[in-house]
Amino acid sequence: MTSTEVSGIGETIRIAWFTRDLRLHDNPMLHAAARGSVVPVFVLDPRILTARRASSRRERFLRESLADLDRSLRARGSRLVLLRGAPEVEIPRLAAQVGACEVHVSRDVSRYARDREDWVRRALESDGRRLFVHEAVHSVIPPGVVAPSGSDHYAVFTAYWRRWCDASRRAIVPTHRRIRWPQGLVLRGEELAVSGARATFAGGETAGLARARRWIRESLARYAELRDDLGADATSRLSPYMHLGCVSARYLEELVADCDEFRRQLCWRDFHYQMMAARPGVVEDDYRPVTRRWRRDEQALEAWRTGRTGLPIVDAGMRQLSVEGWMPNRARLVAAYALCRLLGLDWRLGAAHFFAELVDGDLANNVLNWQWVAGTGADRRPNRRFSLLRQAFRYDPQARYVRRWIPELTPLSPVLAHQPWRASGGTAPRGYPNPIVRL
Ligand SMILES: Cc1cc2nc3c(=O)[nH]c(=O)nc-3n(C[C@H](O)[C@H](O)[C@H](O)COP(=O)(O)OP(=O)(O)OC[C@H]3O[C@@H](n4cnc5c(N)ncnc54)[C@H](O)[C@@H]3O)c2cc1C
Repeated sequence: MTSTEVSGIGETIRIAWFTRDLRLHDNPMLHAAARGSVVPVFVLDPRILTARRASSRRERFLRESLADLDRSLRARGSRLVLLRGAPEVEIPRLAAQVGACEVHVSRDVSRYARDREDWVRRALESDGRRLFVHEAVHSVIPPGVVAPSGSDHYAVFTAYWRRWCDASRRAIVPTHRRIRWPQGLVLRGEELAVSGARATFAGGETAGLARARRWIRESLARYAELRDDLGADATSRLSPYMHLGCVSARYLEELVADCDEFRRQLCWRDFHYQMMAARPGVVEDDYRPVTRRWRRDEQALEAWRTGRTGLPIVDAGMRQLSVEGWMPNRARLVAAYALCRLLGLDWRLGAAHFFAELVDGDLANNVLNWQWVAGTGADRRPNRRFSLLRQAFRYDPQARYVRRWIPELTPLSPVLAHQPWRASGGTAPRGYPNPIVRL
């Protein structure tokens, strides 16, 4: 980064360090930092962008979201500074350069986010500056606020849900109409280029809020009835926006206050965050270790990844994932169940593939949902079994979903589309495989 600095005399300058909170509305971090002059900044961190778990879809969504944030800040008299490098180097360097006394950031739950927070705090403090960390920016209720006696987190969802419903919430934070850029300060950061694989979702707060408001107006009323109906495609598709904080979970909860079914999903999200905050190792380790041995079978794994297991309800989901980078919750459950329970493969393999493909890929919600299905997570019935065919007929009765994503099955009746191995003389239609596992 190159810069020239002409700071106003005696002006208190703060830094608003954006991470996974890319919005102006209901943002406690920005609200606190923008009390006076503020430098909004985002650090493109190569440790995240090139990590094993990186994804070009998510990177594109991120860049679109940053571009949107920059436009919104400019409309209010400010702008977003984009830096590249290790935050513990870049943030203290920027603070020294602009003479900022405080840096504000939102608290996050992953092990890396917490280490990063510590590193930046130490570097700032050694230079006489302070880091302020804000809670309840990513979730409705911050991790740890609701906890059973004698433990730092809930391991049973229904108990958490009851306490979550009754817990007090922070007030929604108003959006600044003007955001004061330090007088005379000239800073040049990296230019923002939007690249990476094109996604089905346009990134950013503007698109996220528009989607939320439209969906609530048109579809919230039928959410409880249709949320598991695969053919209806009736859920909000807000998850990518929630992941990067383009839409505030707390604000969204206010908007859907009358729909308990939707609030329950937001509660699942908080539930997983409080588990991850307490046990960051669950990214790799079983939350509840089991004695089960996972099989190794590269061919089966590849068939699952590419949507060619011969199990239509599974393949449809996996094909949607590869085209859109997104799947509805029911399809994720079915695909995960097939991998861990029918094929007997390790949940970590499935979670890694989902994470590489999902535009909403979220560490806590991905691995902890996977662990729930695998029986190593928070499910109180870890040996729960379900029939794939029953799932198919119940959640896709007209086989609309299956026939939408698997063209080979489009000509079949709903009954045969779900069991194509019965179609022509006891085998699947040409071009579609027979099941790789017996149901
Ligand atoms: C194996 C598996 C992996 C998953 N991986 C992810 C992931 O990486 N990122 C992710 O955001 N969600 C994940 N989920 C949860 C869920 O499937 C998605 O959040 C949901 O399908 C997103 O669609 P939507 O926004 O239309 O949801 P809606 O039904 O409209 O729900 C609204 C919001 O509630 C939250 N939500 C809904 N269901 C869940 C849930 N089961 N757990 C946590 N939060 C939930 C999401 O933020 C979602 O946007 C996973 C689920 C499974 C079974």
